[in-house]
Amino acid sequence: MKTLVTGGAGFIGSHFVRSLLADSAEQQKVTVLDALAYAGNLTNLEPVRDDPRLEFVKGDILDGEQVAELMAEHDAVVNLAAESHVDRSIAHGGTFVSTNVLGTQTLLEAAVRVGRTTVVHVSTDEVYGSIPEGTWTERAPLAPNSPYAAAKAGSDLLALAYHRTHGLDVRITRCSNNYGPYQFPEKIIPLFVTRLLEGRRVPLYGDGSQVRDWLHVKDHCRAIRLVLEGGRAGEVYNVGGGTELTNRQLTGRLLAACDADWDSVDHVADRKGHDLRYSVDWSKIRTELGYEPRHAFDEGLAETVAWYRENREWWRR
Ligand code: NAD
Repeated sequence: MKTLVTGGAGFIGSHFVRSLLADSAEQQKVTVLDALAYAGNLTNLEPVRDDPRLEFVKGDILDGEQVAELMAEHDAVVNLAAESHVDRSIAHGGTFVSTNVLGTQTLLEAAVRVGRTTVVHVSTDEVYGSIPEGTWTERAPLAPNSPYAAAKAGSDLLALAYHRTHGLDVRITRCSNNYGPYQFPEKIIPLFVTRLLEGRRVPLYGDGSQVRDWLHVKDHCRAIRLVLEGGRAGEVYNVGGGTELTNRQLTGRLLAACDADWDSVDHVADRKGHDLRYSVDWSKIRTELGYEPRHAFDEGLAETVAWYRENREWWRR
């Protein structure tokens, strides 16, 4: 099996690449295509740098020629290249449209030209919008609220349209919030942990009542693998973790893990359009593909905090 991983130098992408090489003898080749935007970091691939099956190519998913050339040498592509931070999308929506929408469409177009390629498009639970109670199945309408989520929803719709129109084998995953080592310190867990470890203060949006479902990045990567190896063309698979916390509850756990207290917290104005709650029903991937999250949140969080404690050079850089 030869797999092309776009965005493979980012947080989830680099975990995916490392896990693919670690537990799959039949992987003949893994190529990472990454533009090395601000969140892409080659040191994320350092543990597998010397694996002869891995090749790194610096490039942009907006370059259809390059994407098609690479695809022609691979059996499948896992698309993780994206702009991924909601706050940035509020300030600079344009790059989210170009990378997430046009970039994905360029990649889908290349896949049609090449033919016989399986595309796994990695998306997010945020495309469904906010849900005060209950959970979304894959059939729920898309109602994104942030420019990030709207751009991801656009990419999902294009992926489904390319399946329907061109018969492309494309499968979509929609996952809840990931945590783990190697996450760029802009999202809440690595931002708070790195600040607290330096004795600095952390900003909690509004009253902290927003609810997120948390999933260890390794569980997400296993779900992507299951969809890659056994998913069905044209299908969407929700992926959840089963640990719902308000941002305030999460902050309490992060303070405790970093030996700090609530005096370190600044209560700042809420994020514009902040979604109250995301929650996916992931029974489809469990029933069809046998997915279950394996990492208990408290243990996973403790390991994650320990990683940031021990890898200050990585995040200071
Ligand atoms: P990330 O920001 O850490 O990584 C994104 C990677 O894409 C980086 O390496 C970056 O250099 C690369 N990239 C950006 N623009 C590119 C381009 N034009 N061409 C090639 N490479 C480009 O993001 P992440 O958290 O690893 O997220 C990966 C995917 O997973 C995204 O699609 C995101 O929407 C989705 N997702 C993330 C989460 C989460 O909690 N982090 C949850 C659900 C879904």
